[in-house]
Amino acid sequence: MTQALTQSATATPLLSNFIGGRFVAPTGPTFENRNPINGELVNLVAEADAAAVDQAVAAARQALKGPWGKTSEQERAALLRKVADGIMRRFDEFLAAEVRDTGKPASLASHIDIPRGAANFNVFADQILTLSTETFRMATPDGKGALNYAIRVPRGVIAVVCPWNLPLLLMTWKVAPALACGNTVVVKPSEETPTTATLLGEVMNEAGIPPGVYNVVHGFGPGSAGEFLTRHPGVDGITFTGETATGTAIMKTAADHVRPVSFELGGKNAAVVFADCDFDKAIEGTMRSVFANCGQVCLGTERVYVERPIFDAFVERLASAASQLKFGDPFDKATTIGPLISQEHRRKVLSYYDKAKSEGARIVLGGGVPELDGAFSGGSFVQPTIWTGLPESSAVIREEIFGPCCHIAPFDSEDEAIALANDSPYGLATAIWTENLTRAHRVAAQIDVGITWVNSWFLRDLRTPFGGSKQSGIGREGGVHSMEFYTELRNVCIKL
Ligand code: NAD
Repeated sequence: MTQALTQSATATPLLSNFIGGRFVAPTGPTFENRNPINGELVNLVAEADAAAVDQAVAAARQALKGPWGKTSEQERAALLRKVADGIMRRFDEFLAAEVRDTGKPASLASHIDIPRGAANFNVFADQILTLSTETFRMATPDGKGALNYAIRVPRGVIAVVCPWNLPLLLMTWKVAPALACGNTVVVKPSEETPTTATLLGEVMNEAGIPPGVYNVVHGFGPGSAGEFLTRHPGVDGITFTGETATGTAIMKTAADHVRPVSFELGGKNAAVVFADCDFDKAIEGTMRSVFANCGQVCLGTERVYVERPIFDAFVERLASAASQLKFGDPFDKATTIGPLISQEHRRKVLSYYDKAKSEGARIVLGGGVPELDGAFSGGSFVQPTIWTGLPESSAVIREEIFGPCCHIAPFDSEDEAIALANDSPYGLATAIWTENLTRAHRVAAQIDVGITWVNSWFLRDLRTPFGGSKQSGIGREGGVHSMEFYTELRNVCIKL
């Protein structure tokens, strides 16, 4: 048992809020965190009430005035590297916690979630050391001129509200640049995946991050910790990753006291597969973009458009590859697909499976719940599913499902493919598959998304701008773009 976890009255481990560098004994209700593999109770979680959120924001505000507020960029970069090292030193604990909370295969979490969760601290430690600002010399009537230069200051207390699909990775993607810039944070992890954010509190203490710089409050959205935090007047900026509808609600809340927001929201991403693609590469990449993390990746593909001459062969090969995905113990190396995050999310995904069927889709693969034996019968599994034949107006094609499924439709011209890909209220990511480089450049420039991959998917250089167009987000993070959100620029004008 770690400090983050204590024993509850029923002997179930209890996960506490982390405020001012301490795990705080719960005073209010607790909620259950269940393993989606089998429905077993992982831990009880202390729900932060309004008073606890107040304390967390006050601790974060206080820390800004303490030693943290006086640290140099070099000192902060060194501390962040210690946090990265601390996560890697306790890799197995983070891995076990992430796998228990999400049910995802350990093979996936051990090469994405945990190492990249740690790497975020190193990337932004590098970034802060190379950050520059602008200067302008101007003429004045007396001929002596004036010099303008900008300085960057931290925004203050940042609320970090996180989703459940890549819990540690997406949380540190925000926390690392916020701390690199000298802010303090109050994190609200998803109620589905509360453990790794809490464990990170221990690592922060071990690394010597001062108390109050990193705080964690647990709970839900409306009427709970999420809302208490985002409406708190002591919060100076809100960074949020999650559903577009939640982003809309948070933006309304942020309007009070005029707080800036950075939003990474939902998607309904297209893949465009041209007949001149490398067929094997396109199948391999689309397999990952549709089914990785059981389809619960914001950048994942749910609409596949394939040029007609290779349409039938593509559908057949993708279905054949997807039929090989294997459910099982997440720590078994043979397991390649996990469950959905919860029974509630499974009900949502299955409602789209039903809709596709009732609208007359051709169900090429799956379409229901897999039959699994005793150990996994309480899990929230669904079958990998492929459809064809639905009209583009179908909710299955227009709305984000966030499950291991896609619809595949044929196209006949480049212009038609671009129009189909763009016909969405979302604009997060696209994958283009073609060996014709001229076409790749031409098409990439015309697709209204924040991120386009050509002949790859999920290949991320963390210095590049990341974010969504249309209803997929506001702002860009990554590299210098994160620094834009987590600092405020002030201009100093000196008359010479
Ligand atoms: P969600 O919006 O349901 O919840 C996200 C977080 O917001 C949770 O911590 C939740 O408790 C909190 N929350 C909910 N309502 C709130 C409110 N009114 N006020 C304050 N906080 C509130 O999202 P989710 O189901 O956890 O995650 C899946 C969604 O996230 C998908 O739509 C996916 O596309 C999106 N996502 C986007 C990106 C991206 O980079 N664009 C990355 C990952 C996930």
